[in-house]
Amino acid sequence: MKKKNIAILGATGSIGTQALEVVDAFPDRFKISVLSGGKNVDLLVQQALRYQPKYVVIADHQQLQQVKSQLAKLNVQVLTGEEGLLEVVQDPEIDLVLNAIVGSAGLGPTCKAIECGKDIALANKETLVVAGELVMGLVKRHGVKMLPVDSEHSAIFQCLVGEEMNPIEKIYLTASGGPFRGKGRDFLATVTKAQALKHPNWSMGAKITIDSASLMNKGLEVIEAKWLFDLRADQIDVVVHPQSIIHSMVQFEDGSIKAQLGLPDMKLPIQYAMTYPERAANQFERFDFAKYGCLDFHKPDLETFRNLQLAYSAMEQGGNQPCVLNAANEVVVAAFLEDRVSFLGMSDVIEKTLSIIGKQVLSSLDDYLQCDQEARRVAQTFLQ
Ligand code: NAD
Ligand code: MG
Repeated sequence: MKKKNIAILGATGSIGTQALEVVDAFPDRFKISVLSGGKNVDLLVQQALRYQPKYVVIADHQQLQQVKSQLAKLNVQVLTGEEGLLEVVQDPEIDLVLNAIVGSAGLGPTCKAIECGKDIALANKETLVVAGELVMGLVKRHGVKMLPVDSEHSAIFQCLVGEEMNPIEKIYLTASGGPFRGKGRDFLATVTKAQALKHPNWSMGAKITIDSASLMNKGLEVIEAKWLFDLRADQIDVVVHPQSIIHSMVQFEDGSIKAQLGLPDMKLPIQYAMTYPERAANQFERFDFAKYGCLDFHKPDLETFRNLQLAYSAMEQGGNQPCVLNAANEVVVAAFLEDRVSFLGMSDVIEKTLSIIGKQVLSSLDDYLQCDQEARRVAQTFLQ
């Protein structure tokens, strides 16, 4: 079998490192063409020495020389910045681009890779939240595959295999509820970043962990699902399921519901996106029904966790609103991690930013990138 050449953008993060574990589990299937990282030079260099990619990209320009000198003995091209990412994804040898960058920084590289005819394994949900219409238009035009890595979307994607003839009635996105499930606003008013960073079921990067605690992650996922599966808002329900065993469900027009289950381990959706349409045998831990007496389901509390409601309404308004929501959220999450805004204050800033910027229609990538910058600037004005 010819090896699949993979570019991993965001290789040093939580998804990136787990993707490399999947590569390790299948040494005959994959070859790494690109490894990119943000700031963690030591890990990026270590990964490059091990996987010997054709290209390494370090986001921070100031670290370029350091990476170059540490990889001087390898036959590797070292590039930097977004320009570097936009250049390397064009290489004809690449079959699949796994985008595991966090935030709207992933949008440009996703678009460029699609334009170059690459299939995308998408962890970077912000790509679709910010510019879903533009991105899915490119996917159609260039005839590439958009393979979801987010566990909920992978679950839905898996439930849809073999159902190409059958319309979706609705989907149920499951949500763990995060560390503050069941808590009220009085409790949330005083929570610290240390509390918010402790997710009950998943170990992930800091930004998505805070998003999970605030339910913004589920809001972003609702928008991601709209674009991936071409759904209306009333076809997307969120169900709180604390055990994170059912990763999501699809209900068809005869009322039948299909669910995808498994242990909460991102290696499974990552692997499926990398081997699709095949399922490759692995030795990862298996689910044991006897260990779980019951699986619980609840309605989400939209009054306490306002972000989910904000995301639904941004999606329904459309245009620039999801882009503004995402940008303001990135700003407040970074501020919360620096103790510059309270947990509940995050939703206030997002809501004010949305109302100040107002609805606009966007079309080109530049429009979206400018809107992202403007929303960041406005959101900053509400922070000390
Ligand atoms: P992370 O913070 O652990 O890793 C992010 C990666 O992107 C790192 O390699 C970092 O160096 C790089 N990066 C950050 N900013 C960058 C920039 N401006 N330019 C280039 N590279 C940059 O994040 P993560 O938890 O791995 O999440 C990555 C993406 O996957 C996010 O969009 C997240 O929502 C999504 N996701 C993650 C999980 C999970 O379990 N971690 C699950 C589902 C979806
Ligand atoms: Mg998810």
